[in-house]
Amino acid sequence: MSEPVESSSVEVGARRTRQRTEVIALLEETREFSTAQQLHARLRERGSRIGLATVYRTLRLLTDSGEIGALRLDSGEQLFRRCDSARRHHHHLVCRSCGHTVEIHGPAVESWMLQVAEDNGFRDISHVLEVFGCCARCAEGADSPSGPTDDAGSSPAC
Ligand SMILES: [Zn+2]
Ligand SMILES: [Zn+2]
Ligand SMILES: [Zn+2]
Repeated sequence: MSEPVESSSVEVGARRTRQRTEVIALLEETREFSTAQQLHARLRERGSRIGLATVYRTLRLLTDSGEIGALRLDSGEQLFRRCDSARRHHHHLVCRSCGHTVEIHGPAVESWMLQVAEDNGFRDISHVLEVFGCCARCAEGADSPSGPTDDAGSSPAC
């Protein structure tokens, strides 16, 4: 520990804060779950010079601190979202077609999980629970054919 690096670490800190602010501002506007790539592309569109690796790192930090919610799809892809109740434990109901998301709270499920864990001698448990489906709007859109379509009826929105 011989070289003082205080001034440069302050600069790095300031840049991190700005990037973090950029990412949060975008998430505030985006109510759907988005991938890091989608968020990165949108930030670049509006003139940000933030790199994809920085977006990933910022998203991870925000997820760790509980400021944003994250979920993982079956494909392994991770999605991020700024939640209204970010600091309160909750789950999501997600439309797999349009990404529309509803925050849900399940106290009965939470206590059930704690109970079965305790019954089996498990401590320090964590869980992942997201519910996927087709939202009302997409279900409606899938039913009403738009325009003269002869063969498109076979592929509903979800
Ligand atoms: Zn959430
Ligand atoms: Zn939908
Ligand atoms: Zn839970």
